[in-house]
Amino acid sequence: MQSSSVTRESTALAFAQQIRAHFPLLANDKGDQVLAYLDTAATALKPYPVVEAMRGYYETYSANVHRGLYALADQATRQFESARITVASFINAASESEIIFTRGATDALNTVALSLSQEFLTSRDLIAVSELEHHSNLVPWQIAAQRTGCSLRRIQLLPDGNLDIDELERNWDDRIKLVTVTHMSNVQGSIQDIRRIAELVHRHGGLVVVDGAQSIAHTRIDVKALDCDFFAFSAHKLYGPTGCGVLYGKKSLLEKMPPVQGGGNMISTVHFDRYTCNELPNKFEAGTPPIAEAIGLAAAVDFVLSVGFDVIADHEAQLTTYALARFRKEQGITIYGPHNNRGPVISFTLDVVHPHDVAQFLDSRQIAIRAGHHCAQPLMRRLGVAALARASFGMYTTHEEIDRLIVGLRTVREYFS
Ligand code: PMP
Repeated sequence: MQSSSVTRESTALAFAQQIRAHFPLLANDKGDQVLAYLDTAATALKPYPVVEAMRGYYETYSANVHRGLYALADQATRQFESARITVASFINAASESEIIFTRGATDALNTVALSLSQEFLTSRDLIAVSELEHHSNLVPWQIAAQRTGCSLRRIQLLPDGNLDIDELERNWDDRIKLVTVTHMSNVQGSIQDIRRIAELVHRHGGLVVVDGAQSIAHTRIDVKALDCDFFAFSAHKLYGPTGCGVLYGKKSLLEKMPPVQGGGNMISTVHFDRYTCNELPNKFEAGTPPIAEAIGLAAAVDFVLSVGFDVIADHEAQLTTYALARFRKEQGITIYGPHNNRGPVISFTLDVVHPHDVAQFLDSRQIAIRAGHHCAQPLMRRLGVAALARASFGMYTTHEEIDRLIVGLRTVREYFS
């Protein structure tokens, strides 16, 4: 993609139209009713460069990495390790050895929880977890608590939809060893002030784990500026492939942490009754890694950077403001989450229709939204709902798609009334 083809001066509409040409699923849709894909928070669509990079690997150099002594294997290893450098630079990690390729955000969060539960966490500790969390950043800590005997401490949600970090600070318990929060909620779209949380937690000698699954595609992540100790994300929410993600961790911590899986690549030497660990990041990458996927992720990073985060963020902020204003004018719609400081994710209910019926009706009009508990059952209970409908946007979303959503919601409400 030519970066010059997408300029800051483009209007929102022209921008989205230009962008859409790079996504096969949108560009090839020539039907009467073009798909309105409003489920980017579940997974982002993939642009051509990602598909082509992965095809390039499979068609021209699909050897295993780190093992072969022949040219093809060397090329695969170089491309795979170059993907790691791309990701390290993308999130401003201090070194590529801080980038561990995983199967996704879930795998990354489980890896850090499992490793810390082997040596770092003890039965007298507390893990502070927010009420906003996706199951992927709650259940691994429940498992860590079961293993170590430590307990979970709730970071509460305020009525305005923000987390009560003041309360955490005011009532700080010295047993808190680790704090974990989602950077951007997959339900409310709300964005947490990670720098503030990190400053608070580090003042007390604790660690901060950030679930970046949602924020990674919408804002420039700088792990040094955030000063988090760990940051997890999935490639597929960043316009990259499924089956691949990243665990970023500070080198000084990762070096001290035990591996969680044994096998090839993670070892230095193996005897019949013992092993020694390989260096970072290999220590945490047992077995054949997701090679094509990591190469696809690097292509996704390049693509996103060629469009530019300032441009993407501008566009998505405009869409979100527009959608919230339109939602608020409609009868019978309740929007969840704070008024400000939110990403392009809007969860809502319609007074007379169950979210599943809303989603099914919209599907008949080629509008794809998500409905359900969004893998956040504790949050659903806190909000007093069984399920929510959710529309979420990406760089390719248009105002016209939001208009179609509003018309669809009006129609389904009339029908059920
Ligand atoms: N955390 C959040 C906030 C998410 O939205 C998701 C995906 N819905 C995950 C974690 C888990 O990501 P994955 O399924 O790609 O591992």
